[in-house]
Amino acid sequence: MDKKRRALLQAGMIAGGTGAFALGYATPVSKAVKGLVNGTSGVPTNDRIAGNALAPEFMIDPAGELVMADDQVVSPVQCFGCWTQCGLRARVDTANNKVLRIAGNPYHPLSNPRPPAQETPVREVYTGLAGEAGIEQRSTACARGAALAEQLQSPYRVTQILKRAGKRGEGKWQTISFEQLLQEVTQGGDLFGEGHVDGLNAIRDLDTPVDAANPEFGPKANQLLVTNAGDEGRDSFLKRFAFNSFGTRNFGHHGGYCGFGYRAGAGAVFNDLKKFAHGKPDWDHTDFVLCIGTSPAQAGNPFKRQGRQLAAARSDGGLDYVVVAPTLPNSISRLNDGRGRWGPIKPATDDALALALMRWLMENNGINATYLAQPGPEAQAKAGQPSHSNATHLVLQAPHPQAGRFLTAADLNMGDADTLLVVNAENGELMAHSSGHPAALWADREIQINGEPVRVKSALQCLKESAFAHSIEDYSARCGVPVNIIEGLGRELKRHGPKAVIDAHGGMMSGNAFYTAMAVMTLNTLLGNVNAKGGLALGAGGVAAVENGPRYNLAEFNGMVAPKGVFLSRNRFAYENSSEYQRKVAAGEAPYPSRAPWFSFSSPLLTEHLAAAFAGYPYKLKAWISHMTNPLYGIGGGQAFLGEKLKDPKNLPLFIAVDGFINETTALADYIVPDTLTYESYGFTKPWSGVPQATTTARWPVVTPATPRLANGDHLGLEAFIINLGKTMGLPGYGDNAIRDHKGELHGLHTGADFYLRAAANLAFAGTPLPDASADDLVLTNAARLMPLIDNTLAPEERRKVGFVFSRGGRFAPFESGWQGELMSKRTKDSLCIWNPTIGTSIHSMTGERLSGCAALYEPRFADGSPMREHYSEAEWPLLVTSYKSHLMSSSSIGAERLRMIHPENPISLHRKDAERAGIKHGQAVRVTTPGGSVEGIALVRDGIMEGAIAIEHGYGHTELGARAHVIDGEATPVNLRLGAGVNQNALGLMDPTRKEVANVWLDWTSGAAVRQGLPAKIEAI
Ligand code: SF4
Repeated sequence: MDKKRRALLQAGMIAGGTGAFALGYATPVSKAVKGLVNGTSGVPTNDRIAGNALAPEFMIDPAGELVMADDQVVSPVQCFGCWTQCGLRARVDTANNKVLRIAGNPYHPLSNPRPPAQETPVREVYTGLAGEAGIEQRSTACARGAALAEQLQSPYRVTQILKRAGKRGEGKWQTISFEQLLQEVTQGGDLFGEGHVDGLNAIRDLDTPVDAANPEFGPKANQLLVTNAGDEGRDSFLKRFAFNSFGTRNFGHHGGYCGFGYRAGAGAVFNDLKKFAHGKPDWDHTDFVLCIGTSPAQAGNPFKRQGRQLAAARSDGGLDYVVVAPTLPNSISRLNDGRGRWGPIKPATDDALALALMRWLMENNGINATYLAQPGPEAQAKAGQPSHSNATHLVLQAPHPQAGRFLTAADLNMGDADTLLVVNAENGELMAHSSGHPAALWADREIQINGEPVRVKSALQCLKESAFAHSIEDYSARCGVPVNIIEGLGRELKRHGPKAVIDAHGGMMSGNAFYTAMAVMTLNTLLGNVNAKGGLALGAGGVAAVENGPRYNLAEFNGMVAPKGVFLSRNRFAYENSSEYQRKVAAGEAPYPSRAPWFSFSSPLLTEHLAAAFAGYPYKLKAWISHMTNPLYGIGGGQAFLGEKLKDPKNLPLFIAVDGFINETTALADYIVPDTLTYESYGFTKPWSGVPQATTTARWPVVTPATPRLANGDHLGLEAFIINLGKTMGLPGYGDNAIRDHKGELHGLHTGADFYLRAAANLAFAGTPLPDASADDLVLTNAARLMPLIDNTLAPEERRKVGFVFSRGGRFAPFESGWQGELMSKRTKDSLCIWNPTIGTSIHSMTGERLSGCAALYEPRFADGSPMREHYSEAEWPLLVTSYKSHLMSSSSIGAERLRMIHPENPISLHRKDAERAGIKHGQAVRVTTPGGSVEGIALVRDGIMEGAIAIEHGYGHTELGARAHVIDGEATPVNLRLGAGVNQNALGLMDPTRKEVANVWLDWTSGAAVRQGLPAKIEAI
């Protein structure tokens, strides 16, 4: 970085370093150092140098040959320490069915950014891990990934089927047989001595409307909710049950309280409101990254890979970066010679910064005008641009009744409705967006449609007016980022152009999450970096669809049904199409507000499912099957509101949880079915984003599950429960003849392996079929353990190819396949949205206001549109709470003792000046209170936090997972209070005070994502 540029960035910015070494780490590290010096036990170690370390799993003999240790194998596995879901390698003691150690899978790009070709024999790759050569090909697990194998033997694990034996949440259980479980949940009856409960047989009514007055709600079968944590590899199996066998519309996952605010905003920019595409920097080639609401090397996705790439890019000298966040992140280090900088910002004000940068770029010729002028793919190709946007498309303005949509050729009888009109940059005439010519960026004119005057403006003009609604000084005052820093950042973005990237993620989850994310991601479009090498890159996704592939159709089956009706969370459905709206209009009543928000463009939201069901709007639930879901811990205010409601079975009569542990939500279940853990189960995942090579991870049971063995030899877990539930209910898709192969022959679905081995065959035969695994590959990785099952299940030509998949832990495209010249290989072809017409024509169901189709500044607000600060003044609630993640702990990893030993609890961070004002000393006990609740913890007084913010690390403050005892068959389970250490920031979440009819916690007013950034708060010493 040159001196001048560095000075610009440095002004007002605080460099990171060890000064902010966290309170939570200091004591354990000092103990660890003492232990190293003095020895911890006084007993001589096994080896003078290696101490009591395990003997290595393999060694290289003097002849250079790899020699495995007795009874040990190294098997590829998938991690679930966070949603990165890295491919790892497990060192397995086969004699004792035990995972001894975890490290990275060398073939896997999430663990090894420069992996060898998948065709390289396992022996050669493992040999390359040894000695000095191992530095080059080092494939790592992060600390969390390395520690989580402990969970397999956890004393808090559920390994029997539990039925509640007391009131919901009382913690009293009895063990029951699998047969009893299936009989009770399907037949129903007076299951708990509290009155009749409908079983799943009665609930699965595909014909009778759930509400005859509102037929659009669909059938009664929608009264089953099925949820999982997310796609941890078994999503397609569970969705197949929910949607196509049972026939419920309602499937939910944790996205609504994870990063959905970001995904929704990114999806709006990427013109993808179905899968909500998003991108990540092409770290290997970018020159400058501005991270807003994400901190690489600390959190975000792909967490570990990004951390390694960041370290490599800054030490090799190619990358400068700035992380804008309320707290100083680990991404910044004094060791990096100023390449990385931290920009403090007030919580929940990232939109103000993004709009300020837009304004600066527009005022200072910083936007990529050549890129933005290309109105379609034809012009993009001629101009040699990596992608194109709708910056020049013309937006109909109010009072036109369809204001917010684009002007089409059909409007002016110049062509069809798919042809959009733009202003020719050369002659000012209207022309088709597909004409192949550049269009005018700034257009604002009146035209005639059917003889009526209509104002149209280019999308970029709309964005300019939105960004120019406030001065840079005003934006600066709102977000707390000084004007000179905003200008410095603007200059950096302008200077690097398409080689600069703005990266974001879960830090967007504020009371204005959607528009914040949209503003931040729009900056990328203004730079013209999408699809460019070194720009913002879409993830390459998986290698192939495992569900419906070249060998087996696992998605379709005889008798399958299709779900119908309105989602319980009132998403993907416009309120204006509801019977409620139409009744109001017919009665001459004002149709707005609806009784609660309808999220017309969001995905299904577990943030809203339960509140909707409790209020019966749109309808009530009768049963919930939850797989590894924990919304009560994860949603701000969830435990206090949703948890209390869930305790009453009248609000949701049947709750079946499938999980390996009793978490804050499943503690309220009626039945708990023990699940296999990651190293014991099959599954197929793909990276969310950030990997330019197509990648599918394949996991398989590398140890025998700890769950009960069933009569057919299968082990109890999600798959065994669902398959046997399906068979007991006589649902389509289970039992004999449930799977069709490529020749039309039918096969049975009786075990999880019946499904997943065939999925692996699809993966192996997608495109160019994979080679066969060698016997040596199979033995070294212990995929040989699966071969008898594979031989009994698959066609001969499939067997060794599936062995190849499992010996590598997936299928991986070659490293070079990620780029084509100066472009990313995986590219979006859609017009990137400066203006999203779907959003721009939507009306908020509570306020009746037309939404902005482009980035705009809104205050964090409640569902009725009123700003949060109108309800909770700064005078009474002077601080704003923000959450962050650490590189060590996640929401579910608290059970790993090795992690707790390093990082036992989470202190409450606040700025030195705020501490002085409140009379709080470093290390003192404090209470943080919001309008929704309070937590007590230890103050970490620091300079590495924005003044006015309180920061709490996510992942602590558990009340379950072993933090309290349950009683099973009269015996108390073990308890460890250290599992409940620290505080859960979500206990501070608040209710939306404006939702009078259908109460719920505070959600982003447009997307329905949970709010955890910017909670109004006060702090006091106790
Ligand atoms: S980043 Fe770490 S915890 Fe997350 S999946 Fe990868 S190894 Fe596991």
